[in-house]
Amino acid sequence: MKILVTGGAGFIGSEFVRSALRGELADIGDCQVTVLDKLTYSGNLANLAPVADLPSFRFVRGDISDGSVVDQVVAGHDVIVHFAAETHVDRSIASPTQFVMTNVLGTQVLLDAAMRHGVRRFVQVSTDEVYGSIDEGSWTEATAVAPNVPYAATKAGGDLLALSYHRTFGLDVVVTRCTNNYGRYQFPEKVIPLFVTNLLDGRRIPLYGDGGNRRDWLHVSDHCRAIALVLGAGRAGEVYHIGGGTELSNVELTTRLLEACGAGWDLVDHVPDRQGHDRRYSLDISKIKDELGYAPRVRFEDGLAQTIDWYRSNREWWEPLRDRARFATRGELLGTL
Ligand code: NAD
Repeated sequence: MKILVTGGAGFIGSEFVRSALRGELADIGDCQVTVLDKLTYSGNLANLAPVADLPSFRFVRGDISDGSVVDQVVAGHDVIVHFAAETHVDRSIASPTQFVMTNVLGTQVLLDAAMRHGVRRFVQVSTDEVYGSIDEGSWTEATAVAPNVPYAATKAGGDLLALSYHRTFGLDVVVTRCTNNYGRYQFPEKVIPLFVTNLLDGRRIPLYGDGGNRRDWLHVSDHCRAIALVLGAGRAGEVYHIGGGTELSNVELTTRLLEACGAGWDLVDHVPDRQGHDRRYSLDISKIKDELGYAPRVRFEDGLAQTIDWYRSNREWWEPLRDRARFATRGELLGTL
């Protein structure tokens, strides 16, 4: 199978590429992978170094909203797994335009090319944030989207376009919506790597508002296994939720990170809350469990400990990224995902 992975130099896309090419995703089997990535501030070829020399791997630097590049690259691929996106909520609040260009226009350009070149399946990788905020209970795949921040609105726009290409043109599209991911190679502007890299250096960490915002956490390897399942056996035109079953408030998460890094609450700065900050996200994941037999494998305690160890042992990966992440360390614009 020839797979085009957009955004494959980012955090989750690169995990998917490394695992697929190492044969770790049982539902994919033998494959050739092309990564199409613009290498924005969050894209990093170092994330792909472990597989860069494999003959089954090819990298193309390009923008998914550039029709001529996309047309050339899509040709000859069986499936597209679409990760490429602007992903940081705080950046979308400060400057939404690029989010519309990539997450909406770029998705539409890819969908058009998929149609023209007879791509067999298009997986739109999306997020629980498209639903807005929920105080109690969980969203199902039948819930209507109601995004509150520009990042989520542009992801919802991409999802709706993808589903419309299925209904209008018959393109085989599947949408996945996942909760918060954590793991190695995550750009240090998102809350876990930001807090861990700061704490490893004895620096201060910022906590938004009262810290009561709640998120579900999933190890990135479980997310990629679930995407592979959906790619192989999901039903066309359907949405599938992916989650981890570990819901924590930001205070609870911060407590665990402080303990794991041997630091105390004296290093925490309480900063004003993010504009439009959703209080709680929660996905019902029974559909992917019942239909495709998915279950997360990595216990949060184990995954978090491994992740912290990885950041402790891989300073050469994250120290050069600090300047690029500066946006997220300016005080008022600090990051939870
Ligand atoms: P990331 O920011 O680490 O990576 C994004 C990648 O996309 C980067 O390599 C970047 O260079 C590339 N990119 C951005 N704009 C591009 C463009 N115009 N053309 C080509 N490439 C471009 O993001 P991530 O955390 O790996 O997220 C990947 C996908 O998963 C996104 O679609 C995101 O919405 C979704 N998602 C993320 C999470 C999470 O917790 N991180 C949760 C659910 C869903």
